[in-house]
Amino acid sequence: MRYTQLSANEIAQKVQAGELKASDMLDASLAQIRAVDGDFGSLDGQATDPETDKKVHAFISLTEEMARAQAQAVDAKVANGEDAGLLAGVPVSIKDIFALENTVTTAASRMLHNYRAPYTASAVQKLMDAGALIVGKVNLDEFTFGSSNESSAYQPASNNPWNTAHVPGGSSGGSAAAVAAEETPLSLGTDTGGSIRQPAAFCGVVGLKPSYGRISRYGLIAFASSLDCPGPLSRNVEDAALMLQVMAGADERDESSATLPVPNYLEALQQDVKGMRIGLSPDYAGIAYPNHKTGEFEIIPVQEEIKQATLDAAEQLARQGAEIIENVPMPHTRYGIPVYFVVSRIEASSNLNRMDGVKYGFTVADARDLQDLYKRTRTEGFGPQPKLRILMGAYLSAASKKVNYYQLASQVRGMIRRDFELAFEPKGAYQLDALLTPTTPTTAFKRAEVFGDSVLMQYADQMTVSVNHAGLPAITVPAGLDNKNLPIGIQFIANHFREDIVLRAAHAYEQSTLDAVWRKVRPMALQEVN
Ligand code: GLN
Repeated sequence: MRYTQLSANEIAQKVQAGELKASDMLDASLAQIRAVDGDFGSLDGQATDPETDKKVHAFISLTEEMARAQAQAVDAKVANGEDAGLLAGVPVSIKDIFALENTVTTAASRMLHNYRAPYTASAVQKLMDAGALIVGKVNLDEFTFGSSNESSAYQPASNNPWNTAHVPGGSSGGSAAAVAAEETPLSLGTDTGGSIRQPAAFCGVVGLKPSYGRISRYGLIAFASSLDCPGPLSRNVEDAALMLQVMAGADERDESSATLPVPNYLEALQQDVKGMRIGLSPDYAGIAYPNHKTGEFEIIPVQEEIKQATLDAAEQLARQGAEIIENVPMPHTRYGIPVYFVVSRIEASSNLNRMDGVKYGFTVADARDLQDLYKRTRTEGFGPQPKLRILMGAYLSAASKKVNYYQLASQVRGMIRRDFELAFEPKGAYQLDALLTPTTPTTAFKRAEVFGDSVLMQYADQMTVSVNHAGLPAITVPAGLDNKNLPIGIQFIANHFREDIVLRAAHAYEQSTLDAVWRKVRPMALQEVN
């Protein structure tokens, strides 16, 4: 087996045992990147032709020198008989929204194309302290605004390794693509409305959004501060647990980080699902799309194969002793996207105020005065998505408005949270340990198919966004391929800080499908090279 096909856990074990050198692992990862990635995203790059472009384009930049030094340090530790860490010698890619000292952190925006962070994000620091090799920064939708990667100012944006004419999802699309294309076994992403889980599902990998506050946000460029969560993308559930283990925990630099002790997530995987109560909800059967003319919600059903995969997974888990509870009402799920529009736009527009040409990154050279500097820096520095979101956020929060939309949305957000509370309530009618849902309404769409319709694009997050509103943990795991050989993902959601439960359920499902025929199929982008 090629080194690049090893899981993170296998790599770390082999490196610690002296069977594999961290520097050889790094070489293998870099060779794979050279073989499958093609041109990296850049500001003067162009979108490519979906018909002919077979490359993945996950990366924006490599941090090869840094990774080389980290690999040497790991190898030296192993030679000295020291503990080299849980991620010893594991190549990791980082969504380019995390600060990493001595490198450029772009947020895939012209606005930050030259921004060198003077510090390193806590999550990234913890990865490095655990022996990981940070090989580079991967592409994303500009400032994490999108569900397809296409809104990146760094083109070519990432493609889906399963079919390069399709999007990898977003905004952590570069992360999902890098993991699926075996460039790095792990990638660090962020999830505000679904940005880890949706691309993970589109690319056939595992993606975990932890509880709000479980992983520090320090050094993560903010999108919507009350929703943002860093989290792992990996090729199997054990690796997601491993990466979470390393990154979770309180951080004095982020006062919203949780001070709860970090359990042993890897140990949780040893347990089976006997007696676990897993719910299915009719409110996750389709997209509820408000018809703006009639004011009514129209239900667009989830793609049939995804619905079937979710039901099959429930059956599979029932065979292992889980109890399946059907018809759990989650009636406020349909308000998830409208509420997200309000909350995320207002918070984004406020967070982006700091990008003014004075403090960070891009600035126009010949401003006449301060107003001119702000105006032209923001006009030239931001792409269409940040502009749209700033405008909408400013409109929704305008002081002259009679309606306080943020407050209204926060109230509905409370109702969404309440749905989950009732479902998980230990003495309630359902007493669920976990809810099982599709991760996305469809499999990966074609490039250019949805791009340009910001509302439709946003509905790619219908199955994921309520979890962000409630601050809960959720995981997506691969659950098959559709008739076009595009990956299907299913999602497990649990109560606050019960990452152990979603990991356990996902692991049990994964282990019971290891011999499934669909697991033998390789992503298209890998078929030609290896
Ligand atoms: N797709 C969503 C959006 O466009 C979610 C983004 C995210 O989770 N960062 O806002």
